[in-house]
Amino acid sequence: TIGGDIVLEVTGLSKHFGGLKAVDGVDIAVKRGGVHALIGPNGSGKTTTLNVLSGLYQATSGKIVLDGTDITNMPPHQRTASGLGRTFQNIRLFRSMTALENVEIGAERPGNTMVGKGDDALTERAMEALTFVGLGSRANELISSFSYGHQRLIEIARALASNPTLLLLDEPAAGLNSTEKLELHELLKRIAAQGLTILIIDHDMTLVSEAAQHITVLNFGRRIADGESMAVLRHPDVVSAYLGS
Ligand code: ADP
Repeated sequence: TIGGDIVLEVTGLSKHFGGLKAVDGVDIAVKRGGVHALIGPNGSGKTTTLNVLSGLYQATSGKIVLDGTDITNMPPHQRTASGLGRTFQNIRLFRSMTALENVEIGAERPGNTMVGKGDDALTERAMEALTFVGLGSRANELISSFSYGHQRLIEIARALASNPTLLLLDEPAAGLNSTEKLELHELLKRIAAQGLTILIIDHDMTLVSEAAQHITVLNFGRRIADGESMAVLRHPDVVSAYLGS
């Protein structure tokens, strides 16, 4: 493995919107394998951090190294090619297309050197990802026929089809019922068991505390705690940040 033990190394990351320091000098080291959560009260800078990591926003300052490659100034598609997969807070699937067609879009991404457009291997890779999330038998149904929870799983399948080293999940549990949350938790475990690394943002503390081994906490754009999950969740600064929100 290229980057060694640390798959994502973020140092001094900042993103300012005019005078607002949405992210302000944040360090994050994501270890290879397992689930790392980025949490914090509303407005603490979680989504902005994810958007800077995936290249939707350019960092104001700081450095992002993925598996030994400096991706700080790369456009989003090049980050995907370098092994970064992501899902969005709001589902971004094409509703008039089938589940399989949507996931094929992920497999088509330039990160996947094994497949090309019009290639059977592309469909195969997409089918494999859909089957992995448990929806292989419904591959040819339109997105509109799937429940909200299953649409979230299809989004994850689409990100997996790009063959990522690191998967960024933006509030995957938002809007899910308790059964769907359990399904999601089980899926996260199976993804991690494949050797992939997951960086997840969520306010669902139950999901986060059960699924993540490592937690980084933001408040007002700054890192206020970082470390092994249980210790972080008991940290007095974390407790008061959540009580105060
Ligand atoms: P979180 O995901 O933790 O709820 P965000 O990253 O969405 O927090 O927001 C952090 C801060 O940055 C908030 O004050 C928010 O209003 C601000 N912010 C986020 N995106 C933008 C933007 N595109 N333009 C201006 N301010 C923004």
